Amino acid sequence: MIQRLTDRIWLIEGGKGGRYPYSHSLYIRDGGGVLIDCGSDDNEILRLKKEEGLRTVVMTHYHEDHFLFLHMLPDVEVWATGEDAPALESFETLLDRYGLIGSEWEPFFRKLLSEKFSFRPRSVVRKIADGERLRFGQTEATAIVAPGHTPGHLCVLFPADGILFLGDYDLSGFGPWYGDKPGSIEALRRSTRMLAEVGAKINVVSHEAPVHSGDIGPEAAAYLSHIDRREEALREFLRQPRTMREIIDRRIVYGEERKGPWFDYGEWALMTKHLEGMLAKGEAARDGEHYQMRK
Ligand SMILES: [Zn+2]
Repeated sequence: MIQRLTDRIWLIEGGKGGRYPYSHSLYIRDGGGVLIDCGSDDNEILRLKKEEGLRTVVMTHYHEDHFLFLHMLPDVEVWATGEDAPALESFETLLDRYGLIGSEWEPFFRKLLSEKFSFRPRSVVRKIADGERLRFGQTEATAIVAPGHTPGHLCVLFPADGILFLGDYDLSGFGPWYGDKPGSIEALRRSTRMLAEVGAKINVVSHEAPVHSGDIGPEAAAYLSHIDRREEALREFLRQPRTMREIIDRRIVYGEERKGPWFDYGEWALMTKHLEGMLAKGEAARDGEHYQMRK
């Protein structure tokens, strides 16, 4: 489904209400046709390409729910930030960014990303830096690099229209993801606050409700509070010594009914970030295979 935010900036809503494995896209009907992310709706994307044109796909970052339909657009040029481009250009780099190389989940994700998500390496023809002006015909935008979710996550501000595309700083009820190898809780907190302070009239995100109008400060704070909730639950669980396997199986992030390697990986990736922070601050200690809070 397409929602016209302005005459030239259109929202393509992702399948399943923009829930994984889909994500919302923007389409700019200018500059030969520009898509920001391509995990929304393959029918709409291919129809727009045919009827309106499509010259460029701007990737907010390298995650699979954002590149889902990129393999269907082999003749369209790809732009991304300098930090995130290498993971779109190489499958091994992509797997490394997820922290999967050598892990027990590597075979599962190799198959998932290459088959279900059809990852194909793409050369990124334009590497975007923070603050850069992007010109799509008459439509001007500013690149805002927001690290934490991925190191080079790109948000796009259209100053004349008061529209900000926040990508995976998605203000969702699930809360933020910072589990990639270069992911960072502190960077993610800073980026989320910085994006809320832009003060855009229309804030568009990649998942769930796509459009958030006006001040998103309270929503950003609620979104970040999931980090504290997860850490509090982990502290509680580490009153007893626990192995990483026990922490994964506790399903602090996703809930106990969620089974299988996809959720195992997600728990491991996010909980590892919390553990690293707690160990560095001396709040928790590691003894062999076991982690526990210090008294
Ligand atoms: Zn993402």
